[in-house]
Amino acid sequence: MSGRFGRRRYHRLVTIYLDHASTTPLGREAFEAMLPYLSEHWGNPSSIHRSGRRARQGLDEARETVAMLIGAKPREIVFTSGGTESDNLAISGAAWAASARGRHIITSGIEHKAVLQDCALLERHGFEVTYLGVDEYGMVDPEAVAAAITERTVLVSVMAANNEVGTIQPIAEIGSICRERRVSFHVDAVQAAAFLPIDVNAWQVDLLSISAHKLYGPKGSGALFVRQGTSMVPLLQGGSQERQRRAGTENVAGAVGLAAAFAATAENSKRAAENDRLTALRDELLNGVTAIPGVLRTGHPRLRLPNSASVVIDGIEGGDLVAALDLEEIEASTGSACTTGSVEPSHVLLAMGIEPERARGSLRLTLGRENTAADIETTIEAVTRCVARLRAASAAPEPAQAPAAVSGAPSV
Ligand code: PLP
Repeated sequence: MSGRFGRRRYHRLVTIYLDHASTTPLGREAFEAMLPYLSEHWGNPSSIHRSGRRARQGLDEARETVAMLIGAKPREIVFTSGGTESDNLAISGAAWAASARGRHIITSGIEHKAVLQDCALLERHGFEVTYLGVDEYGMVDPEAVAAAITERTVLVSVMAANNEVGTIQPIAEIGSICRERRVSFHVDAVQAAAFLPIDVNAWQVDLLSISAHKLYGPKGSGALFVRQGTSMVPLLQGGSQERQRRAGTENVAGAVGLAAAFAATAENSKRAAENDRLTALRDELLNGVTAIPGVLRTGHPRLRLPNSASVVIDGIEGGDLVAALDLEEIEASTGSACTTGSVEPSHVLLAMGIEPERARGSLRLTLGRENTAADIETTIEAVTRCVARLRAASAAPEPAQAPAAVSGAPSV
């Protein structure tokens, strides 16, 4: 077989890829598990004949695997087209189903747009949404969740780990508050699933989103855990697939790829060792980059995803730096949304109290399986060089020393 898993491992030869929070390459496990469902097992899992039954078997096995990996029952797994759909289905689906009881939702200001935009849509339909603030590390306070719950609250949605700064939230504590107050709890675990062991019962969550392409699975494939007994209005109307929670012929290969990729990343001993390896590389990267004057780490010093390094850099635009690094064959991101050519400062950094001007200089470097110590060294050198060049070009004076930590965030 030629291609990525033959002799040509093309993406690795060309670039240093440090944008795994954006997407990951397809892993061998997912690729190999999917192949039969892209070739001989092409049936429709709703058909009762042999081809259909074979596809159904693949889908059922994938469902069992995903359920087992998060402590759920197979019937509680809904396959979706990815993290965005899972988030939308959780929020709109659960909110509309409970709307006769109340129309109040609680979320945080640092959620992914897949959550925030869906909440905004619900606001336009008469729901009230409380957006909780976060501290300087991007942390939600469980007490603030408790204080915001009212008689009318039907849903709380807080992400397990942030996609821009990697901060890990106190999910089990929030889950216990929601359970006690009988409010449904949704967790966007899209970024966390590759690194943190997930147990929907220990976390006391009712809805949980995952996405395959963030953990070496295929794009366009995800899952939503829906606790048995949680009412849900489907977003897609049509057939009775996925226990009538998501109409449409299932993406069998996508679901199989998600299950295989998730199983490979969740293998306990391997994950612990890989998390340790990534943490060491990430800390080295953060140390190197924050040694540049005027560069400050964003996010929590300890409670952050092992692969996540994020900083703000004074005197540059994050987008310019990403473009400069790209020319050096290093792929990174700003962590901020690009809209029609203008780069808006990240809503996550602003919510953490970082001034808009400073937030414009954001850089996110997220590591993955194939990154090495040599990659980190090369990247530190390249970032140092590119920042100096960009600052010189904009004639911004080089800060003499690192300014006071951003909102109190110490450097690693
Ligand atoms: N939620 C989080 C935290 C994410 O980081 C992303 C993707 O960046 C999504 C949701 C959306 O996932 P998908 O790209 O699978 O739609």
